[in-house]
Amino acid sequence: MNHFVKLVSVLFLSLSFQVAQAEEQDPISKGSPLKVESLHRMPLQQYRSLRLQQHLKELAEERKRVLRSDVEVQDDRPTKYEAVVTYMEQLHAQYPEVTELFDLGLNDDNVMIKGIRIGSGSLNNLVVATHHGNEFGSTEVAKAFAASLAKEPLQDQSIFIIPVLNINGYNRNSRNETAKGVSYDANRDYDGPCVGGQHSHALNSTRLLAEFLEKKNIVSSMTLHTYFPAITYPWGVSSSTTKTDDHAFFQELVKFAATGNNYYLGTSTDVVYPADGTFEDFAYWKHGVWSLLYEIGTTHSPSPTAIEKVIRETLPGMRLVFKNSQLERSKNHGFKGSCNARIMSFDPHME
Ligand SMILES: [Zn+2]
Repeated sequence: MNHFVKLVSVLFLSLSFQVAQAEEQDPISKGSPLKVESLHRMPLQQYRSLRLQQHLKELAEERKRVLRSDVEVQDDRPTKYEAVVTYMEQLHAQYPEVTELFDLGLNDDNVMIKGIRIGSGSLNNLVVATHHGNEFGSTEVAKAFAASLAKEPLQDQSIFIIPVLNINGYNRNSRNETAKGVSYDANRDYDGPCVGGQHSHALNSTRLLAEFLEKKNIVSSMTLHTYFPAITYPWGVSSSTTKTDDHAFFQELVKFAATGNNYYLGTSTDVVYPADGTFEDFAYWKHGVWSLLYEIGTTHSPSPTAIEKVIRETLPGMRLVFKNSQLERSKNHGFKGSCNARIMSFDPHME
């Protein structure tokens, strides 16, 4: 056995052990669909701990797949992203009066990031999905929401929907976006109160979205991810100060969002975990955008049936949030706490 083969074998053994350990403790993977559904009614702390175990197991499985996979085969079939663009074009063809495709701009691969605007009112709101390329369930929710709005637009509003922000991650089913050979977590690529001099907007996609908020005067936004299931609001930064001056308003707003589901509700730090450089905190902190984070469903790999279920669960609440949208941004959106580097180190990048 040469040195390399020996090393790979050790890696396999070690990963198998981790997976076996995770499986023993992990009711999420063992449960029936009904059990999985009931898990998010358990106390939040307990659910968070299970979710972290599940994440570690998935990471181990992903590493095994990478070790075993061959070089990617190129072919001429349309990419997964091209199929999303076709979907938007078809929706526009079906509802030409109330929809319009728009260009956000070119990403680092010179691919155009496209979206669809629905309605023509003067109040501009935003839905963006798939900052994380492996979270295709969120793209499906964005597409379904676009179709629902096209059928029945909201009065006096223009809703801009970007179903895929991280295009190369989406095509590869990979969380991170790559640019010039470097891999970035797109939802850690924004400025924020606790970013502390780190380089923001290494990616064109996040820079373009930040500019779009400003250019279009976006008032309310939803950023769609998988998998928790939770609907959260600022702050999500690494600080023990988790509440904004708008806390009471956000609490009321997410009650609309929770229509049709029983997702966990609260600030991102309190419900998920603190993470710096995220879009959702940036939008509120920088501009006072009423910014909600949707962590949809219980998996990054939902089946078609699970996708139908999360669409049923989230769409009524999304519509209600925008229907009750504020007409102006928050005026008291500054961060008044202090940042804590120790808290920052806990970010597991799984959401
Ligand atoms: Zn995500």
